[in-house]
Amino acid sequence: VAAPVPVDPAPAGRGPLDVLGVPGQVNLDYAATAPCARAAADAVAELLPWYGSVHRGAGALSRRCTLAYERARQRVGDFLGVRPDDHVIFTRNTTDALNLLARALPSGGKVVTFASEHHANLLPWPVDTVRLPVPGSADAAVRAVDAALRELRRGTDGSAPILVAVTGASNVTGECWPVADLARAAHRHGARFALDAAQLAPHAEVDITALGVDYVAVSGHKLYAPFGVGVLAGRADWLDAAPPYLVGGGATRTVGAATHDVGWADGPGRHEAGTPNLLGAVALAAVCEALTSVDRAALHAREQALLAHLRAGIAAAPDVVELRTFGPDSPRVGIVSFVVAGRDSAQVAAELAGRWQIGLRDGLFCAHPLARRLLAEAAVRSGRADLPPTALRASIGLGSTTQQVDRLLSALATPR
Ligand code: PMP
Repeated sequence: VAAPVPVDPAPAGRGPLDVLGVPGQVNLDYAATAPCARAAADAVAELLPWYGSVHRGAGALSRRCTLAYERARQRVGDFLGVRPDDHVIFTRNTTDALNLLARALPSGGKVVTFASEHHANLLPWPVDTVRLPVPGSADAAVRAVDAALRELRRGTDGSAPILVAVTGASNVTGECWPVADLARAAHRHGARFALDAAQLAPHAEVDITALGVDYVAVSGHKLYAPFGVGVLAGRADWLDAAPPYLVGGGATRTVGAATHDVGWADGPGRHEAGTPNLLGAVALAAVCEALTSVDRAALHAREQALLAHLRAGIAAAPDVVELRTFGPDSPRVGIVSFVVAGRDSAQVAAELAGRWQIGLRDGLFCAHPLARRLLAEAAVRSGRADLPPTALRASIGLGSTTQQVDRLLSALATPR
């Protein structure tokens, strides 16, 4: 077999949504961390000479930084379609955002979620959280939420706070969940709905108002922005009533001499103690702005065509079995998980990296209950007794090319 030729990533041009990459390396792991967009890199470069204290100084540098931070909040809020009375809180990532929301759950509040969630949307919730089994279809998911909420409300006056927390797109299969329908089901029972948009937002418009959801969480590093910035946006009342998520400078109005004498701030600052990640916020806002000023439908169509090519190639590859929760044709973002029968997934991933310069993910993808179930289901569907206990995941995005996908498909078709 001839040695593979190096494949360059899509050229890192000067357009705001061109992505940075390393020549010769094929990144098929956007779902873990997407490459940085030019818009983010430019926004950071522009601000670097202006380092100054956010919210804490009167100098010109400080004032510019404060302004940039609050403008970033506004832009990210606009991107997410927030309502006038929603808060937009900068966090470290989606995990941090969902942990913050879990802390803001009013006392006695109940949570309903699915066993198919990423650990970030499985583990922060109270121990009595209702974890619904993985549904077989989008409609079954809505029916399951409806039934669970009816059961939780039975014999009560219907006023206890309940939060339904579900992902918009699965990080394992890329399949999209019926977000607006789930939110409507929650609201019918007087519950709220939180959307884990970590995987959906990089691929599709996420508008809190249009979707009718109460909270949304995203990660900057999956949205072509730097590590270390994320967002929780949504209804202000629980957030203003909750104890501060982080305590310290910036989260207070006044602090007296006695240890109990603290007046906590309202608004996003209540949960953002400490000097904030200005560069992260500004870079994320720049990407959000760039994404709103392009034809997202065209980006989506391009990505869907590439995804269809990837999935068709995977379906045709010898011994390869795809993982899925819903039907094969259900809507999905640019993610495919699969196994190679008879092959250890970690070994396949290492071989793809070493011999083909392809980076993708192997394992159970921080969604152990779902990944294990789908592996078992794939064994039944394929009739193969030799499927490995972990999987591989290829994911694509803005900088992905047909050439890169073809390289993976050639690698999978090449005998060892
Ligand atoms: N939810 C989903 C659906 C995810 O895919 C991820 C990241 N893999 C997270 C939450 C957590 O994101 P982060 O690691 O950026 O906090």
